[in-house]
Amino acid sequence: MSSLKTHYQVHWLTGQFCGGGSESMYRQSIESRVRFESCLYLIVAALIFGMFAISDYYLLGITREFYLLLAMRIGVVSFCLMLAFIIGRWGGYSRKVWLHALPLWLLATGIILIVPLRPESLPTQVTAVVVATMAFYLLIPNLLTVAALASLYLNIGFLVFAVLFAALGPMTMLRIALLLIMANVVGFCALLRIESLQRKQFALLHEERGQNQQLHEEIVRRKSLETQLREVAERDALTGLNNRGHFMNLAEKLLQHSQLEKVPFGFFMIDVDHFKVINDTWGHRHGDWILTKIAEVCVQSLRPTDVIGRFGGEEFVVALPNISPEDAQMVAERLRKQVADLPLQKEMEKLCPSVTIGIAIAHTQDVDLETLITRADQMLYSGKRQGRNRVVMYDNPRIIR
Ligand code: GH3
Ligand code: MG
Ligand code: MG
Repeated sequence: MSSLKTHYQVHWLTGQFCGGGSESMYRQSIESRVRFESCLYLIVAALIFGMFAISDYYLLGITREFYLLLAMRIGVVSFCLMLAFIIGRWGGYSRKVWLHALPLWLLATGIILIVPLRPESLPTQVTAVVVATMAFYLLIPNLLTVAALASLYLNIGFLVFAVLFAALGPMTMLRIALLLIMANVVGFCALLRIESLQRKQFALLHEERGQNQQLHEEIVRRKSLETQLREVAERDALTGLNNRGHFMNLAEKLLQHSQLEKVPFGFFMIDVDHFKVINDTWGHRHGDWILTKIAEVCVQSLRPTDVIGRFGGEEFVVALPNISPEDAQMVAERLRKQVADLPLQKEMEKLCPSVTIGIAIAHTQDVDLETLITRADQMLYSGKRQGRNRVVMYDNPRIIR
């Protein structure tokens, strides 16, 4: 927090950020606005400067001085308009500060050059210098240091030329100097205040954005944590299938939906045959591998609407909404065959994996999930008793194989 504060500290005299990075970031953030405003106010200033050619004409008539002034004004106006165009297109505010300073120095030179050509209108020119000084500080967007230096150049240059060409008395010069100092102090303080306020506002906004970003990252982290937790709570770690609790919830909903729609609902209880022998012969690691392969076969041979879960140990359960008894038999038989045809690891090639499947079908509304499980379980054990590796259905207890 404290490093952030020093990073965004505003210098008391220049009104800029003490940290170079923050200053550059700030200037980049206001670049498009600065370009537009510089362009606009430069055009306005150039036109006003040019318009004073009318008063030159009334004061000087068609004289050599008038033509010189006119040429100078046309030069300054053209340069200003050209600079306005350049700044509008390429006037990067963070690195091309000199480009933004150029028009001020040009305008200042133009104003100073009026003195030797129109020395008798000095009081009007003093007013013009005060207005230009304020415009340098407050109208044409620039850094405080740039505005202050250009303004000092204008004011000192004007005073020197006034002394040289308008034969200024010491008291009058003092009065003008005091007036110009006052205009500079007011302009400087006002711009300093604006510059530092804008930067403080930027710092606050940036800090807030940083906090929002952190908050956003925290939300994303928590969401991913939540997903992981849900996975842990709902999935079986070995096979990736739904665990018993989650399966029961899903199957309950599917059964209710089927009963509401008045369509049959199928339930499989699948048990791997002689799994203990597999474990004892090839070890638990290979036993685990067989379990994951059988889980994969189940997922592949079922419809996307069917829900499958690991009931426990080497037992799997499947809920099949909207399925006829014939289709249920067909699906179970296909699954049984696929397990028997499982491609095995080399060291297990002598193994003939098989499953026994008990099926229960709910046709009516008065069957609940527990009853279906019991019926499918009964069929499974009936299949086991009759030699395993077969499908048995409760609906009309039939042995398919
Ligand atoms: P049956 O044909 O009658 O079903 O015989 P079975 O050997 O498959 O049945 P039994 O219930 O006697 O043995 C099941 C074995 O499954 C016992 C247990 O150690 C093993 N088992 C349970 N869960 C896992 C597991 O996650 N990984 C492995 N490798 N074995 C498991
Ligand atoms: Mg078992
Ligand atoms: Mg078994």
